[in-house]
Amino acid sequence: MEPQTQTRTEVDVDPELPSPPGRVPQGAARARSPRSPSKPMASLDSATLARRRALGAGAALLAGTALPACQLVTGKSAPTKAVDVPATIAPTFGFQSGAQLFVLARGPVTFHCYVAPESGVSASAYLIEFKDQLFAYDTQLTPALGRELRYYGNTLNKRFTRVIISHEHAEQWSGWSEFADLPAYAPRETEAVLAYSAPRLPPRPGVEIPRLAGVIAAGDETVAGVRAQFRLIRDAEAASIVTIGFAEQHVYLAGDVIYNRLHPFLGNNTVARWLAALDEIPAWASETTCTLLPGHGAPTNGSAVAEMRRYLQAAQAAFANFKAADEIEKALRTQFPDYGGTYLLRFGIDTALQRK
Ligand SMILES: [Zn+2]
Repeated sequence: MEPQTQTRTEVDVDPELPSPPGRVPQGAARARSPRSPSKPMASLDSATLARRRALGAGAALLAGTALPACQLVTGKSAPTKAVDVPATIAPTFGFQSGAQLFVLARGPVTFHCYVAPESGVSASAYLIEFKDQLFAYDTQLTPALGRELRYYGNTLNKRFTRVIISHEHAEQWSGWSEFADLPAYAPRETEAVLAYSAPRLPPRPGVEIPRLAGVIAAGDETVAGVRAQFRLIRDAEAASIVTIGFAEQHVYLAGDVIYNRLHPFLGNNTVARWLAALDEIPAWASETTCTLLPGHGAPTNGSAVAEMRRYLQAAQAAFANFKAADEIEKALRTQFPDYGGTYLLRFGIDTALQRK
Protein backbone atom coordinates (compact mmCIF):
# COMPACT_ATOMS: atom_id res chain seq x y z
CA MET A 1 0.00 0.00 0.00
CA GLU A 2 2.09 2.83 -1.30
CA PRO A 3 1.18 6.46 -0.80
CA GLN A 4 -1.74 7.40 -3.00
CA THR A 5 0.39 9.64 -5.18
CA GLN A 6 2.23 6.60 -6.49
CA THR A 7 0.87 4.13 -9.00
CA ARG A 8 0.39 0.71 -7.49
CA THR A 9 2.32 -1.96 -9.30
CA GLU A 10 1.90 -5.68 -9.04
CA VAL A 11 4.92 -6.65 -7.02
CA ASP A 12 5.59 -8.92 -4.13
CA VAL A 13 5.48 -6.93 -0.94
CA ASP A 14 8.71 -6.62 0.90
CA PRO A 15 7.84 -7.71 4.41
CA GLU A 16 10.13 -4.91 5.62
CA LEU A 17 7.64 -2.14 4.85
CA PRO A 18 9.45 1.17 4.87
CA SER A 19 8.43 3.55 7.63
CA PRO A 20 8.67 7.25 6.86
CA PRO A 21 11.03 9.24 9.06
CA GLY A 22 9.56 9.98 12.43
CA ARG A 23 7.21 7.02 12.23
CA VAL A 24 7.48 3.57 13.71
CA PRO A 25 11.12 2.44 13.73
CA GLN A 26 11.83 -0.72 11.73
CA GLY A 27 12.94 -2.66 14.74
CA ALA A 28 9.70 -1.89 16.51
CA ALA A 29 7.51 -3.29 13.75
CA ARG A 30 7.64 -6.75 15.17
CA ALA A 31 4.99 -8.83 16.83
CA ARG A 32 5.51 -8.95 20.55
CA SER A 33 6.58 -12.34 21.72
CA PRO A 34 3.65 -14.37 22.96
CA ARG A 35 3.68 -15.02 26.67
CA SER A 36 3.35 -18.73 26.16
CA PRO A 37 4.41 -19.61 22.61
CA SER A 38 2.79 -22.67 21.20
CA LYS A 39 4.86 -24.40 18.56
CA PRO A 40 2.67 -25.76 15.78
CA MET A 41 2.89 -29.51 15.43
CA ALA A 42 2.71 -31.00 11.96
CA SER A 43 0.23 -33.66 12.98
CA LEU A 44 -2.46 -31.21 14.13
CA ASP A 45 -5.07 -29.72 11.83
CA SER A 46 -5.58 -25.97 11.72
CA ALA A 47 -8.74 -25.97 13.82
CA THR A 48 -7.08 -27.89 16.63
CA LEU A 49 -4.09 -25.59 16.52
CA ALA A 50 -6.30 -22.52 16.56
CA ARG A 51 -8.20 -23.87 19.55
CA ARG A 52 -4.99 -24.48 21.45
CA ARG A 53 -3.69 -21.03 20.64
CA ALA A 54 -6.91 -19.38 21.70
CA LEU A 55 -6.97 -21.25 24.96
CA GLY A 56 -3.45 -19.99 25.51
CA ALA A 57 -4.75 -16.49 24.82
CA GLY A 58 -7.51 -16.80 27.41
CA ALA A 59 -10.33 -17.93 25.14
CA ALA A 60 -13.22 -19.92 26.55
CA LEU A 61 -14.38 -22.89 24.54
CA LEU A 62 -18.00 -22.74 23.51
CA ALA A 63 -19.60 -25.98 24.49
CA GLY A 64 -21.17 -28.04 21.77
CA THR A 65 -20.19 -25.99 18.73
CA ALA A 66 -19.55 -28.21 15.76
CA LEU A 67 -16.77 -27.29 13.38
CA PRO A 68 -18.02 -27.16 9.81
CA ALA A 69 -15.94 -28.94 7.22
CA CYS A 70 -14.78 -25.67 5.69
CA GLN A 71 -12.78 -24.89 8.83
CA LEU A 72 -10.84 -28.09 8.55
CA VAL A 73 -9.41 -27.42 5.10
CA THR A 74 -5.65 -27.47 5.37
CA GLY A 75 -4.65 -27.03 1.73
CA LYS A 76 -1.18 -25.80 0.85
CA SER A 77 -0.65 -23.38 -2.03
CA ALA A 78 -3.10 -24.78 -4.60
CA PRO A 79 -6.08 -22.51 -5.37
CA THR A 80 -8.98 -23.26 -3.08
CA LYS A 81 -11.70 -25.29 -4.78
CA ALA A 82 -14.97 -23.44 -5.31
CA VAL A 83 -17.42 -25.21 -3.06
CA ASP A 84 -20.57 -23.84 -1.49
CA VAL A 85 -20.00 -22.03 1.79
CA PRO A 86 -22.83 -22.18 4.34
CA ALA A 87 -24.54 -18.87 5.12
CA THR A 88 -24.20 -19.70 8.82
CA ILE A 89 -20.76 -20.74 10.01
CA ALA A 90 -20.18 -21.96 13.57
CA PRO A 91 -17.53 -20.14 15.62
CA THR A 92 -14.35 -22.02 16.39
CA PHE A 93 -14.41 -20.72 19.97
CA GLY A 94 -15.32 -17.74 22.14
CA PHE A 95 -13.25 -15.30 24.19
CA GLN A 96 -13.78 -14.12 27.76
CA SER A 97 -15.14 -10.82 26.45
CA GLY A 98 -17.95 -12.61 24.63
CA ALA A 99 -16.24 -12.13 21.27
CA GLN A 100 -16.28 -15.10 18.91
CA LEU A 101 -13.49 -16.32 16.70
CA PHE A 102 -13.86 -18.05 13.35
CA VAL A 103 -10.77 -19.61 11.81
CA LEU A 104 -11.15 -20.14 8.07
CA ALA A 105 -8.22 -21.80 6.28
CA ARG A 106 -8.29 -21.15 2.55
CA GLY A 107 -5.21 -22.73 1.04
CA PRO A 108 -2.18 -20.44 1.45
CA VAL A 109 -4.04 -17.88 3.55
CA THR A 110 -5.98 -18.27 6.79
CA PHE A 111 -8.56 -15.75 7.96
CA HIS A 112 -8.98 -15.31 11.70
CA CYS A 113 -12.30 -13.52 12.16
CA TYR A 114 -12.82 -11.87 15.54
CA VAL A 115 -16.44 -10.79 16.04
CA ALA A 116 -17.07 -8.53 19.04
CA PRO A 117 -19.99 -9.07 21.41
CA GLU A 118 -23.02 -6.80 21.07
CA SER A 119 -21.44 -4.32 23.53
CA GLY A 120 -18.74 -3.88 20.88
CA VAL A 121 -21.44 -3.39 18.20
CA SER A 122 -20.65 -6.87 16.83
CA ALA A 123 -17.77 -5.33 14.88
CA SER A 124 -15.67 -7.84 12.97
CA ALA A 125 -11.90 -7.45 12.87
CA TYR A 126 -9.65 -9.80 10.94
CA LEU A 127 -6.17 -11.22 11.11
CA ILE A 128 -5.06 -12.30 7.65
CA GLU A 129 -2.38 -14.95 7.99
CA PHE A 130 -0.03 -15.46 5.05
CA LYS A 131 2.81 -17.95 4.92
CA ASP A 132 5.29 -15.51 6.42
CA GLN A 133 3.36 -12.59 7.89
CA LEU A 134 0.14 -11.26 9.36
CA PHE A 135 -2.07 -8.29 8.53
CA ALA A 136 -4.60 -6.89 10.95
CA TYR A 137 -7.76 -5.43 9.43
CA ASP A 138 -9.43 -3.11 11.97
CA THR A 139 -8.80 -2.97 15.70
CA GLN A 140 -12.19 -2.92 17.49
CA LEU A 141 -14.24 -0.45 19.53
CA THR A 142 -12.25 -0.54 22.78
CA PRO A 143 -8.62 -1.07 23.80
CA ALA A 144 -9.76 -4.14 25.80
CA LEU A 145 -11.16 -5.84 22.70
CA GLY A 146 -8.13 -4.74 20.68
CA ARG A 147 -5.86 -6.27 23.34
CA GLU A 148 -7.67 -9.61 23.15
CA LEU A 149 -7.34 -9.59 19.37
CA ARG A 150 -3.65 -8.64 19.51
CA TYR A 151 -2.84 -11.24 22.13
CA TYR A 152 -4.49 -13.96 20.08
CA GLY A 153 -2.59 -12.73 17.01
CA ASN A 154 0.70 -12.94 18.87
CA THR A 155 0.08 -16.62 19.55
CA LEU A 156 0.10 -17.31 15.80
CA ASN A 157 3.90 -16.90 15.84
CA LYS A 158 3.95 -14.84 12.66
CA ARG A 159 5.29 -11.35 12.18
CA PHE A 160 2.66 -8.61 11.95
CA THR A 161 3.59 -6.37 9.03
CA ARG A 162 0.73 -3.90 8.82
CA VAL A 163 -2.54 -2.69 10.27
CA ILE A 164 -5.32 -1.70 7.89
CA ILE A 165 -7.92 0.68 9.27
CA SER A 166 -10.77 0.12 6.86
CA HIS A 167 -12.64 3.39 7.47
CA GLU A 168 -13.25 6.25 9.86
CA HIS A 169 -15.76 4.77 12.34
CA ALA A 170 -14.69 4.32 15.96
CA GLU A 171 -15.02 0.51 16.04
CA GLN A 172 -12.34 0.33 13.37
CA TRP A 173 -9.62 2.26 15.18
CA SER A 174 -10.32 2.53 18.93
CA GLY A 175 -8.20 -0.55 19.72
CA TRP A 176 -5.26 0.82 17.72
CA SER A 177 -3.15 1.52 20.82
CA GLU A 178 -2.64 -2.25 21.07
CA PHE A 179 -1.16 -2.23 17.54
CA ALA A 180 0.76 1.04 17.82
CA ASP A 181 4.12 -0.67 17.19
CA LEU A 182 3.06 -1.52 13.63
CA PRO A 183 2.73 0.64 10.52
CA ALA A 184 -0.95 1.51 10.04
CA TYR A 185 -2.66 2.48 6.79
CA ALA A 186 -6.12 3.82 5.99
CA PRO A 187 -8.02 5.54 3.16
CA ARG A 188 -7.28 9.23 2.68
CA GLU A 189 -10.79 10.10 3.89
CA THR A 190 -10.12 8.20 7.12
CA GLU A 191 -6.83 10.03 7.54
CA ALA A 192 -8.74 13.33 7.36
CA VAL A 193 -11.22 12.26 10.06
CA LEU A 194 -8.42 11.02 12.30
CA ALA A 195 -6.64 14.34 11.90
CA TYR A 196 -9.60 16.63 12.44
CA SER A 197 -12.84 15.10 13.79
CA ALA A 198 -11.66 12.19 15.93
CA PRO A 199 -9.55 14.34 18.30
CA ARG A 200 -12.67 16.43 18.99
CA LEU A 201 -14.71 13.43 20.19
CA PRO A 202 -15.16 13.06 23.96
CA PRO A 203 -12.04 11.28 25.28
CA ARG A 204 -12.40 7.60 26.18
CA PRO A 205 -10.03 5.84 28.59
CA GLY A 206 -7.06 4.30 26.81
CA VAL A 207 -8.25 5.28 23.34
CA GLU A 208 -5.60 6.94 21.21
CA ILE A 209 -6.02 8.46 17.76
CA PRO A 210 -4.11 6.23 15.30
CA ARG A 211 -0.95 7.59 13.76
CA LEU A 212 -0.82 6.49 10.13
CA ALA A 213 2.26 5.46 8.16
CA GLY A 214 0.48 6.08 4.85
CA VAL A 215 -2.80 6.03 2.95
CA ILE A 216 -4.24 3.17 0.95
CA ALA A 217 -4.59 3.31 -2.82
CA ALA A 218 -6.70 0.88 -4.85
CA GLY A 219 -4.81 -1.82 -6.70
CA ASP A 220 -3.67 -5.42 -6.71
CA GLU A 221 -0.81 -6.70 -4.64
CA THR A 222 0.80 -10.10 -4.23
CA VAL A 223 1.62 -10.98 -0.64
CA ALA A 224 3.56 -14.21 -0.04
CA GLY A 225 2.26 -15.58 -3.35
CA VAL A 226 -1.35 -14.61 -2.65
CA ARG A 227 -3.09 -12.05 -4.86
CA ALA A 228 -5.04 -9.45 -2.91
CA GLN A 229 -7.31 -6.94 -4.67
CA PHE A 230 -7.54 -3.74 -2.63
CA ARG A 231 -10.47 -1.53 -3.54
CA LEU A 232 -12.02 1.59 -2.00
CA ILE A 233 -15.81 1.84 -1.87
CA ARG A 234 -16.81 5.45 -1.39
CA ASP A 235 -19.90 7.14 0.10
CA ALA A 236 -21.63 3.94 1.17
CA GLU A 237 -21.66 3.10 4.89
CA ALA A 238 -18.77 5.53 5.35
CA ALA A 239 -16.76 8.03 3.33
CA SER A 240 -14.41 5.34 2.01
CA ILE A 241 -14.07 1.67 2.96
CA VAL A 242 -11.19 -0.65 2.05
CA THR A 243 -12.35 -4.01 0.69
CA ILE A 244 -9.99 -6.85 -0.17
CA GLY A 245 -10.80 -9.56 -2.70
CA PHE A 246 -8.97 -12.89 -2.69
CA ALA A 247 -10.38 -14.24 -5.95
CA GLU A 248 -8.32 -17.45 -6.04
CA GLN A 249 -9.35 -18.29 -2.49
CA HIS A 250 -12.98 -17.21 -3.09
CA VAL A 251 -12.86 -14.88 -0.11
CA TYR A 252 -14.13 -11.29 -0.11
CA LEU A 253 -13.43 -9.03 2.84
CA ALA A 254 -16.25 -6.50 2.48
CA GLY A 255 -15.78 -4.40 5.61
CA ASP A 256 -18.81 -2.33 6.53
CA VAL A 257 -20.16 -2.39 2.98
CA ILE A 258 -21.86 -5.59 4.18
CA TYR A 259 -23.42 -6.35 7.57
CA ASN A 260 -24.48 -9.92 8.31
CA ARG A 261 -28.00 -10.06 9.76
CA LEU A 262 -27.47 -6.92 11.81
CA HIS A 263 -29.12 -3.54 11.34
CA PRO A 264 -26.44 -1.38 9.71
CA PHE A 265 -25.36 2.14 10.56
CA LEU A 266 -27.29 4.42 8.19
CA GLY A 267 -25.84 7.66 9.55
CA ASN A 268 -23.73 8.44 6.50
CA ASN A 269 -27.07 9.34 4.87
CA THR A 270 -26.08 7.86 1.52
CA VAL A 271 -28.40 4.84 1.16
CA ALA A 272 -28.92 5.36 -2.58
CA ARG A 273 -25.19 5.58 -3.18
CA TRP A 274 -24.61 2.55 -0.92
CA LEU A 275 -27.08 0.56 -3.05
CA ALA A 276 -25.15 1.55 -6.18
CA ALA A 277 -21.88 0.60 -4.47
CA LEU A 278 -23.09 -2.98 -4.08
CA ASP A 279 -22.65 -3.25 -7.86
CA GLU A 280 -18.93 -2.54 -7.37
CA ILE A 281 -18.59 -5.86 -5.56
CA PRO A 282 -17.19 -8.39 -8.04
CA ALA A 283 -19.72 -10.93 -9.34
CA TRP A 284 -17.80 -13.91 -7.92
CA ALA A 285 -18.11 -12.43 -4.43
CA SER A 286 -21.91 -12.55 -4.63
CA GLU A 287 -21.93 -16.32 -5.18
CA THR A 288 -22.54 -18.88 -2.46
CA THR A 289 -19.10 -20.32 -3.27
CA CYS A 290 -17.54 -17.12 -1.87
CA THR A 291 -16.70 -16.76 1.80
CA LEU A 292 -17.89 -13.25 2.58
CA LEU A 293 -16.31 -11.50 5.55
CA PRO A 294 -18.58 -8.65 6.73
CA GLY A 295 -17.70 -5.59 8.80
CA HIS A 296 -20.23 -6.54 11.46
CA GLY A 297 -21.32 -10.07 12.28
CA ALA A 298 -20.11 -13.56 11.53
CA PRO A 299 -18.54 -14.76 8.28
CA THR A 300 -21.09 -15.87 5.73
CA ASN A 301 -21.32 -16.46 1.99
CA GLY A 302 -21.89 -14.20 -1.02
CA SER A 303 -25.67 -14.35 -0.65
CA ALA A 304 -25.19 -11.59 1.94
CA VAL A 305 -24.80 -9.11 -0.92
CA ALA A 306 -28.38 -9.70 -2.11
CA GLU A 307 -29.61 -9.60 1.48
CA MET A 308 -27.84 -6.25 2.00
CA ARG A 309 -29.53 -4.92 -1.14
CA ARG A 310 -32.92 -6.02 0.21
CA TYR A 311 -32.22 -4.22 3.49
CA LEU A 312 -31.03 -0.99 1.89
CA GLN A 313 -34.07 -0.89 -0.41
CA ALA A 314 -36.26 -1.18 2.68
CA ALA A 315 -34.26 1.58 4.39
CA GLN A 316 -34.61 3.83 1.36
CA ALA A 317 -38.38 3.31 1.41
CA ALA A 318 -38.57 3.91 5.18
CA PHE A 319 -36.71 7.23 4.91
CA ALA A 320 -38.97 8.25 2.00
CA ASN A 321 -42.23 7.26 3.73
CA PHE A 322 -41.62 8.47 7.28
CA LYS A 323 -40.20 11.59 8.88
CA ALA A 324 -39.83 10.55 12.53
CA ALA A 325 -36.96 8.36 13.72
CA ASP A 326 -39.39 6.18 15.69
CA GLU A 327 -41.39 5.37 12.56
CA ILE A 328 -38.33 4.63 10.44
CA GLU A 329 -36.92 2.40 13.17
CA LYS A 330 -40.21 0.57 13.60
CA ALA A 331 -40.53 -0.06 9.85
CA LEU A 332 -37.08 -1.64 9.68
CA ARG A 333 -37.47 -3.67 12.87
CA THR A 334 -40.78 -5.00 11.57
CA GLN A 335 -39.35 -6.01 8.21
CA PHE A 336 -36.18 -7.56 9.70
CA PRO A 337 -37.44 -8.97 13.02
CA ASP A 338 -34.57 -11.42 13.53
CA TYR A 339 -31.81 -8.85 13.00
CA GLY A 340 -29.53 -7.74 15.84
CA GLY A 341 -27.68 -4.45 16.07
CA THR A 342 -30.52 -2.23 17.19
CA TYR A 343 -28.16 0.29 18.85
CA LEU A 344 -26.52 1.13 15.53
CA LEU A 345 -29.94 1.21 13.88
CA ARG A 346 -31.27 4.06 16.03
CA PHE A 347 -27.94 5.89 16.23
CA GLY A 348 -27.67 5.75 12.44
CA ILE A 349 -31.24 6.97 11.84
CA ASP A 350 -30.78 9.88 14.25
CA THR A 351 -27.49 10.83 12.63
CA ALA A 352 -28.93 10.60 9.12
CA LEU A 353 -31.91 12.79 10.00
CA GLN A 354 -29.56 15.41 11.45
CA ARG A 355 -27.64 15.44 8.17
CA LYS A 356 -30.70 15.88 5.96
ZN1 LIG B 1 -18.67 1.64 9.73
